[in-house]
Amino acid sequence: MVTTTLVDERHFFFNFYLVAAKGLHWYIKFMQIEALPEKGKRIINYLRLSVTDRCNLRCIYCMPEEGVDFVPHDEVLSYEEMLRLVEICVKAGIRKVRLTGGEPLVRKGFLSFLQRLSAVEDLKEISLTTNGVLLKDYAADIRRCGICRINVSLDSLDRRKFLRITGRDRFVRVLEGIEEADRLGFEPIKINVVAMRGINDDEILDFARLTVTKPYHVRFIEFMPVGKNNGWSNDRFIPAEEIMNRIRTLGDLKALNHNSLDGPAQRFILQGAKGEIGLIAALSNHFCDQCNRLRLTAEGHLRGCLFSDQEIDIKTPLRQGRGEEELLELVKLAIDRKPKDHGLVQKDPRKCVRHMSSIGG
Ligand code: SAM
Repeated sequence: MVTTTLVDERHFFFNFYLVAAKGLHWYIKFMQIEALPEKGKRIINYLRLSVTDRCNLRCIYCMPEEGVDFVPHDEVLSYEEMLRLVEICVKAGIRKVRLTGGEPLVRKGFLSFLQRLSAVEDLKEISLTTNGVLLKDYAADIRRCGICRINVSLDSLDRRKFLRITGRDRFVRVLEGIEEADRLGFEPIKINVVAMRGINDDEILDFARLTVTKPYHVRFIEFMPVGKNNGWSNDRFIPAEEIMNRIRTLGDLKALNHNSLDGPAQRFILQGAKGEIGLIAALSNHFCDQCNRLRLTAEGHLRGCLFSDQEIDIKTPLRQGRGEEELLELVKLAIDRKPKDHGLVQKDPRKCVRHMSSIGG
């Protein structure tokens, strides 16, 4: 009897320690993957993937009609290559992927790519940035892939001005796309507005008012000097603080807690509003010390900072058939070399020569 109890107890403690040890092992493994700490303590877990550098709009500040060189088709990463690289990035600690471009929805086969991407193990979140032109047609399929976070760029609520900014008469299509996304339960639907003095700053209050009746997150983005001819100048630039002061005239603005999923946006809500307002002060209040992003350009270069043309070509070794270890080392190197800050806070900021569409905005 005594012997049996002793054996039972030993058995119990043995099992207990086994489970605890296993738990500890997985905890340590999880922490290692989650926290790959980069120098300066930033944790780089967010990949912006440019699916294509092509677009169906010609926004004056992003992809003007003239002067944009497109990457030759055979130099753009195939979907197979993108999936392989995402899997390797996940091994280096990436947990979130945002699909951007160019316009992701113009690339053929995008939906089946999305479906395969959503099956990548350990990838916790996939989101999409689109100009909304094709959203009405694609929204249901995107939703079926399990994607619910979407950003739609819209810089004017006026059809003629939309045409002047984008070069295309697609305003109604974009609105229909946003409404369809709302109907299908996308949440949040973020509306990205690049605020430009003398171009659309007269609509700042209209955009802010939109959040009163609609559950959208309207985010005002400071105009950034990216690309060769994007029309940026000090006169066109509106600091986030000025945008905020204008919005305050509408009534009480309550600051919302910072949510890590919202990245660098400062968030506010107008009293009684269904949606919220965000400010992205990329220039005036740069958030480099919290930046968790790595970019993979359409032509297969890893880029640590939107504003630094320092890139690592990962496509060439991939196409040469290099093994996973070697590719993983390159991703880690890109993370390690991520610039400490974007160098745009000087009075006369340097320009970044590559266009936003080829980097992946
Ligand atoms: N085609 C998609 C779209 O329109 O959203 C994704 C690509 S676009 C380059 C991504 C985001 O970058 C958009 O919200 C766009 O407004 C923003 N963007 C492009 N050029 C910019 C600039 N010079 N300053 C600030 N934001 C910019």
